[in-house]
Amino acid sequence: MHYDYVVVGAGLAGLTIAERAANEGNKKVLVIERRGHIGGNVYDSYNEDGILIHNYGPHIFHTNDKEVYDYLSKFTKWNDFWHRVLTYVDGNLIPMPITVETVNKLYNLNLSTKEFEAFIKEEAEDIEEIRTSKDVALSKVGENIYNLFFKNYTIKQWGIDPGEIDTSVISRIPIRFNRDTRYFADKYQGMPRHGYTKMCENMLQNKNIKIMLNTDYKEVKDDITYDKLIYTGQTDEFYDFEYGKLAYRSLEFKFETFDQESYQEAPVVNYPNDYDFTRITEFKKLTWQDHKKTTILKEYPQAEGEPYYPFPTKECKEHFAKYQAKMEQEENTYFLGRLAEYRYYNMDAVVRSALDLYNRIK
Ligand code: FAD
Ligand code: UDP
Repeated sequence: MHYDYVVVGAGLAGLTIAERAANEGNKKVLVIERRGHIGGNVYDSYNEDGILIHNYGPHIFHTNDKEVYDYLSKFTKWNDFWHRVLTYVDGNLIPMPITVETVNKLYNLNLSTKEFEAFIKEEAEDIEEIRTSKDVALSKVGENIYNLFFKNYTIKQWGIDPGEIDTSVISRIPIRFNRDTRYFADKYQGMPRHGYTKMCENMLQNKNIKIMLNTDYKEVKDDITYDKLIYTGQTDEFYDFEYGKLAYRSLEFKFETFDQESYQEAPVVNYPNDYDFTRITEFKKLTWQDHKKTTILKEYPQAEGEPYYPFPTKECKEHFAKYQAKMEQEENTYFLGRLAEYRYYNMDAVVRSALDLYNRIK
């Protein structure tokens, strides 16, 4: 069977391409997905108690990219949602990211924002060349806050010291000199009103899109032909691990449901220094679902398992560069998304990348 576009992977990257090609380009599209559902890691579903959970960890949409926001808004309405995170340190729940509220709560102070700025200036270390995530944290907040909030969380999440990790990782967490304690400061933030899966289903409403679930690309590739292949799976796998396996970080997700309306004070509580899990999410506090019970999720980082995060070290980037050289030689095959581009993309950045790719190749 011949298709204009074959898309491997039904995550946000693949679905955006499929949607554009079918709706804007009037093309015939085949989407091949290994899992039994669409959505990739943004997939959400109702559990046996009827509570909407994010099956692959908490997903909060946030962006400053109006075009991406407007694009996704064609497929969902949004609940306005400002994400808040508390961090459990020495028995106290403290606002994250680092703001004046963090320091006031941590040290039982009552600093103004100006005094906080002076306090941080005093704490921050003068580092000549910022090369790692540890340098980022020390240069922004100094050793005390680094030790309490960043060091152990990062070791737990990645299994290595922040001094070995790319600057981009801890740079994801801002430090703010105003009283804004929201986790993200982007202009557009929200939760799809009826969930991410519903939004993804709406993206696929076109009879020119055919979707094969529970199907690995390699099983069917000899039976299909196409003008363009969009591949959103792992690149090392695409090339039969010719240069060896790329490193990804995985997670084990443990869900628990309690016969009580509420479990914790915030949608997410981080645990940098205690327990083996990094954070606890309480889904009803993300989705605003009304329910007598509540479901939480604990995330346990793992070296092996489903590839959730590209590994953010210099060595891993160099390893990926070998595959990149091959990718660039391909004709009519395009690599897109968190796995294929080996990039720590957020949802909005994946959609941006997909829209740009489609416009380039259409
Ligand atoms: P994926 O969602 O991974 O989709 C790729 C798909 O390809 C998968 O479904 C996979 O099964 C399929 N596939 C792979 N190989 C094959 C094959 N050979 N054959 C067939 N199918 C194949 N982003 C945010 O913006 N906000 C957040 O709050 C946020 N929280 C996150 C929390 C966690 C725990 C994780 C892991 C990620 C989070 N993200 C968040 C990032 C977000 O999940 C990604 O940006 C987005 O889902 C990436 O989409 P994708 O299509 O590139 O990849
Ligand atoms: N981080 C940390 N302490 C925290 C939260 C995050 O040290 O309380 C670091 C950690 O290295 C983590 C990175 O910042 O991997 C990015 O955090 P984010 O919340 O963006 O992680 P994600 O939601 O992508 O897993």
